[in-house]
Amino acid sequence: MRVGLRAFSLFLALVFALAFACCAPVKNSHSTFLAMDTVMDLTVYGDAGVLESAEELIRSLEGELSVTDENSAVARLNATGRAELSPETAALIRTALALGEKTGGALDITLYPVVRAWGFTTGEYRVPSDSELASLLELTGISRVETGGCTVTLPDGMMLDLGAVAKGYAADRLSALLCERGVKSAVFNLGGNVLAYGHKPNGEDWRIGINDPLGEGNACIIRCHDRAIVTSGGYQRFFEQDGTRYCHIIDPSTGYPVNNGLASVTVISENGTEADALSTALYVMGYERAVEFWRENGGFEAVFITIDGALTVTEGLESACSPAGNYSEFSVAKR
Ligand code: AMP
Ligand code: MG
Repeated sequence: MRVGLRAFSLFLALVFALAFACCAPVKNSHSTFLAMDTVMDLTVYGDAGVLESAEELIRSLEGELSVTDENSAVARLNATGRAELSPETAALIRTALALGEKTGGALDITLYPVVRAWGFTTGEYRVPSDSELASLLELTGISRVETGGCTVTLPDGMMLDLGAVAKGYAADRLSALLCERGVKSAVFNLGGNVLAYGHKPNGEDWRIGINDPLGEGNACIIRCHDRAIVTSGGYQRFFEQDGTRYCHIIDPSTGYPVNNGLASVTVISENGTEADALSTALYVMGYERAVEFWRENGGFEAVFITIDGALTVTEGLESACSPAGNYSEFSVAKR
């Protein structure tokens, strides 16, 4: 009888211990720093040490991919027209070229001569003349980039800019790091590129706010897990001259900043590089062509906000989206 009681109280103690372990909040750790020309905000649940490794990884990717850091691999390639790159960087360039093809040239990593002329990346903003843009566009074209193994070769005067894919690629590399370190829950905001890794520690979906490109706060909240959520929009970086606003995303067919009625596009995908590439490309395409691209290709979901304040999500987000702030409703684009 006495043994039975002792066993029972041990059992009860175990039940309480387990219950406590299940309900005790997992401790989160947080770091914020400037990198890749934006504010990075990392939160990880559990292994705090991973934050230091994550920051190191981001800084090394920036050192490799930055178009403005003259010591980066991309800047070396741009300066000499030919470079032996790391296998990872060569693969990223090939992926970006392939996504350029897939998007009908809307994503164009050879646009740097044009991007630079407008002053984006240097901050020396100006409106180039039509003839200057026409001659700079001659120096672009994804089909003219040669890749062989890890060697990339560019015709005279051509330059690459991986700014449209670098943060999404960083999200993929960070996701691999979290996986290696056994992390279960993390949310990283790499300046408009969010990595929602795993679930929240309580098992629920992450709730990711999509910025209102026309005002303050969020336009909607998306519930998801294990996704990259990447936004491109004219509101993120722009300058104004003589009453006209010029944004940092350029239409490769004209050399002019995009001005097509879209205020922002968010792409949600398991793959960060693809989400980043596509958010830029869909923003270039404009609403109609972008929805058509989604219908034809699939493999991702998207949120569109137009400059007249209409919020539309693709079908797969219908039950995951809650409008917020100034938005009380949304439309759903069907297949
Ligand atoms: P994102 O913020 O990902 O949409 O990328 C925008 C950045 O990519 C710009 O700051 C430019 O450096 C570069 N860029 C601008 N237009 C394009 C384009 N059509 N295709 C590829 N890169 C672009
Ligand atoms: Mg992008």
